[in-house]
Amino acid sequence: MSDENTKPAANVAPLRKAVSCPICKRPSAREHYPFCSNRCRDVDLNRWLSGSYAIPVADDERKADEDEI
Ligand SMILES: [Zn+2]
Repeated sequence: MSDENTKPAANVAPLRKAVSCPICKRPSAREHYPFCSNRCRDVDLNRWLSGSYAIPVADDERKADEDEI
């Protein structure tokens, strides 16, 4: 039963996981983990501070006409 303990951690995922930014889905940067940049981190923070996840973003203007739920 001690097989697992003697084996090297070959199956374990590397420390550097590919995490995508929760805001724009780009690969996150180490300095801004889990976000890709300071801006996205700010956007996320503002969302929480404003109490809703519907903060006006520049991108939203284009989608205003679409019925995206
Ligand atoms: Zn981002």
